[in-house]
Amino acid sequence: MTNCLFCKMVSGDIKPEVVFEDEKVLAFRDINPQAPMHVLIVPKLHITNLNVLQDASLGGHMLKIAACIAEEHGCAETGYRAVFNCNDDGGQTVHHLHLHVLGGRRMTWPPG
Ligand code: 5GP
Ligand code: ZN
Repeated sequence: MTNCLFCKMVSGDIKPEVVFEDEKVLAFRDINPQAPMHVLIVPKLHITNLNVLQDASLGGHMLKIAACIAEEHGCAETGYRAVFNCNDDGGQTVHHLHLHVLGGRRMTWPPG
């Protein structure tokens, strides 16, 4: 997708602060962090949102990477949150699937 922000990060046209990369995903720091740790994990393939994710193993892979990133940031035991926002009511603003990983502070519930 030529006009997709996260595709431009995957292609290297825009360079985020990358914390992890493998053949399937790129993980980088959110530009507007909502917690001391706020990382986005995106698939390298353009997938618009969770509604059209067909590859369950890719979703599972993203979740495993989230747990690894939380562990590396010292948040595994204290706790963290992993969130997919989907479409308008879910608060999705970038329409390329991404998993938010937030930690380093006490989260509240319900979410806003
Ligand atoms: P959404 O609102 O779609 O769930 O999440 C999109 C996220 O992308 C937001 O948390 C926002 O701060 C982040 N974001 C938007 N533009 C950029 C950017 O240019 N660089 C980075 N690293 N994150 C961005
Ligand atoms: Zn994209």
